[in-house]
Amino acid sequence: MSVALDFANTVACPGCRVDDGLATSQDIERWLRAHRRELGPWDGPIPVAALRRLRTTVRQLFACAVEEAAPDATCLVAINRLGRLAATYPRLDWREGRRRKVIVAGKENSRDYLLASLAASVIATVAEEGRVRLRKCQSPRCTHYLLARTSRQIWCSPSGCGNRARVARHYRRARRRVVPVSG
Ligand SMILES: [Zn+2]
Ligand SMILES: [Zn+2]
Repeated sequence: MSVALDFANTVACPGCRVDDGLATSQDIERWLRAHRRELGPWDGPIPVAALRRLRTTVRQLFACAVEEAAPDATCLVAINRLGRLAATYPRLDWREGRRRKVIVAGKENSRDYLLASLAASVIATVAEEGRVRLRKCQSPRCTHYLLARTSRQIWCSPSGCGNRARVARHYRRARRRVVPVSG
C-alpha cells in the first residue's frame, strides 16, 4: 500500500465514475482520517490549499515516472523541500528510572509533518525500482494510477476498469458473430 498512490488517485475519474475526493474540506478531512495510521499524528488545521497543490505535483511526478520523462525542476524542488520536513530524530526519555528511546518528528509543526509524511511516501513510490511498477490505468477514461506487481496488471482495479474492459471485449466479440442480413 502506498499512501501517495491513494493520494494521487483522489482525483475525479469519469471512467470509474468517482468525484474529486478532495473537493471540500470535509472530503479532505475524511481522507486524512482514513489514512491517519500511515500519515502519523496530525492535529492542526488542515492545510487545504497546500494539499491540493501537493496532489498536482504528485500527479506530475507520477506522469513523468510512467513515461520515463524528466520532471519539471519545480516539481522536484517542491517534493524534496517537503520531504526534508519528514526528518525524525531519536530522543532519550529518562523518567522515574525508565529509559526509553522516543522517535520525534523533526518539525514540531504538525501541519508540516502531515505534508512531509505524504512527500516521503511520494518519494518512496516514485523511486521504487523493485518488483512493483507505477503505471497509469490502461482504460482511456480512467485517471487512476496503480502499482503493478506483474506485467499483466494494467487496470487500477480488476473489479472496476478490468471488469468493464472484459465486458466491452465480450460485447465486441458477440457483435462480430451476428451475421448482417442483406436485403
Ligand atoms: Zn479510474
Ligand atoms: Zn482504471
